[in-house]
Amino acid sequence: MSPKAVRPQAMRGFTVCRATSGCGKIFTTITVDDAGKISEVFIRFGKAGGCGSAIADGIARLASYGLRSGLDPDDAIKALEGIGCHQGNNTCMTVVAESITFVMQTLKTGRDINEIIEDHDINK
Ligand SMILES: [Zn+2]
Repeated sequence: MSPKAVRPQAMRGFTVCRATSGCGKIFTTITVDDAGKISEVFIRFGKAGGCGSAIADGIARLASYGLRSGLDPDDAIKALEGIGCHQGNNTCMTVVAESITFVMQTLKTGRDINEIIEDHDINK
């Protein structure tokens, strides 16, 4: 892994808000560096507090550390997607993985992220 990139004081990014079946709303913020690479992930549960949001915070910090040290975003998505919780499969971690995918698609294609999300939801 390459050394961790220095974080500039300000970065642009996307905050994706998704409703889950059972885990409430999940806000995933993904920052993008000047080269257009995904740099950080922040995960916020609609309802703050509790072990769930603490664990999500830890996962986001680890993912961000990895992304800034050369981790391929595709590998981050692979690690996060398909993790179910006590509420079922289409829940918290799945939505985080999806949100990163949406940002990668908009960065790659230049398409509006909301259109990408709408298409995804229609084809679900
Ligand atoms: Zn959950």
